[in-house]
Amino acid sequence: MGKLTKFLSFTLVFALLLAVIIPSSLVSAASGTSFTKTTYQTTDSLNLRSSATTASKKLITIPKNTKMSSSYRQGNWYKLSYKGKTGYVLGTYLKKVTTSTSFTKTTYQTTAALTLRKTNSASSTRLLTIPKGKQLSSSYKKGNWYKVTYSKKTGYVSGSYLKKITLSSPTSNPVQKTTAYTTTERLNLRGAPNTSGKLLLTIPNGGVIQSISQSNGWHKVTYNGTTGYVVGTYLKKGTVPPVAPPASSVDYSGSKMYVLINSNDTLTLRSAPSASSGQLSRLERGTPVVVANSLHKTRGYVAVKTADGRAGYVESLYLTLFKPASSNRPLIILDPGHGGRDPGAIRYGVTERDIVLAVARQVAAILEGKVDLQLTRYTNDYYPTLTDRSVMANVHATTRFVSIHINAASATSASGAENYYYSGSTSVQLANAIQQRLVSYAGMRSRGVHFGNLAVIRGTRAPSVLTELGFLSNSTDRSKLMSTAYQARYAQAIADGILATL
Ligand SMILES: [Zn+2]
Repeated sequence: MGKLTKFLSFTLVFALLLAVIIPSSLVSAASGTSFTKTTYQTTDSLNLRSSATTASKKLITIPKNTKMSSSYRQGNWYKLSYKGKTGYVLGTYLKKVTTSTSFTKTTYQTTAALTLRKTNSASSTRLLTIPKGKQLSSSYKKGNWYKVTYSKKTGYVSGSYLKKITLSSPTSNPVQKTTAYTTTERLNLRGAPNTSGKLLLTIPNGGVIQSISQSNGWHKVTYNGTTGYVVGTYLKKGTVPPVAPPASSVDYSGSKMYVLINSNDTLTLRSAPSASSGQLSRLERGTPVVVANSLHKTRGYVAVKTADGRAGYVESLYLTLFKPASSNRPLIILDPGHGGRDPGAIRYGVTERDIVLAVARQVAAILEGKVDLQLTRYTNDYYPTLTDRSVMANVHATTRFVSIHINAASATSASGAENYYYSGSTSVQLANAIQQRLVSYAGMRSRGVHFGNLAVIRGTRAPSVLTELGFLSNSTDRSKLMSTAYQARYAQAIADGILATL
């Protein structure tokens, strides 16, 4: 026999031999399955074997709770590697590990009615059904289950019915392509780029304008929603820088509050939650107290305890989360509209109630330390009546009262910011100061400043305004209102507007 013949016959014999010694069950098991790489955890200590049978050589013992990944199995035997050894383990003692991922907050739209479940499993408790076409945001997932909040319930939905949607990003908004300038003199806004152009209005010194283009020393600009031309000589580039949400020193989850009352006055600590009950003590302005019962209450009595152990009841109107200065300072009361059972405007699951509270808290964070502060509500789960809000302002020597709201209309084209006053020149001034800054800081279209016969400002004696930041029903406004960067700009506009009139 030639060498080749010898080799072939040897191979044939060897193949026949294999067919005889290997049981047919193993041959069929040898046709394994490949699958997407999956992470498993051992539920018991487990032997890694050289092949997919208990009769094969034991390579190593894998301890309980070890995580490994596999992408191939033969029957119930999973191929994997442990400590440099590759072999097979029995799937009975493997548990699939769901990988959870945090990611940048992303907005999705439901492509079908979708069940919100308590945990990341189709068998977990059903919380509610989210209709088709709703917008949800998520920044966390477990496997293909996305953690979302809808209608105040937080749970998981299957990613199979979510479509990523791109909201127009605030930074790519065309409004922001203009350049902001501040006027260094009173400046005429004209209808044409020359001194004989029609006078549209006069911009005050320190006014912020948006320059669209410039030519021959004239800027084409918008100011409070009016477009025209100004001479470049009296313009200084820039305005307030884009603001980062300031960090507040206030803990909204806590129950530590401070007595807010005139420095020449004191607050009565009573033996029972009633004005006719006995007087236990008098608390001075700035006294810290721990509130034992409902913290989030605008009116009525709350049980408090002082650091030196005095316990009793005080009227909640006189408690604030913001430590007042020892002597009187201007007192600013911020009124985030709606709250609790009253969500205000709602579009795509986004509520006015939530956004205005976020903005009010940021206004407070900016003003903290400069003025005394009080909010008519500190949380979203509480609704003070319109009277409660005015009463809070009226029991104090309130300097400014700002009620913060968001508009909505059936026509999606309606957009922009507006401010309402009820009476007094200071209210008008405050409305203008906030309006101008909402336009220049957040690029809002200006709907102007108007008289408004609105209960919350009508009932409040201090100079007060009701500010409407924008329209939740307009897609451009909505993407700004939902953006934390823009919420910071709204807050800065309100805070600076208040400070400008003090
Ligand atoms: Zn409102």
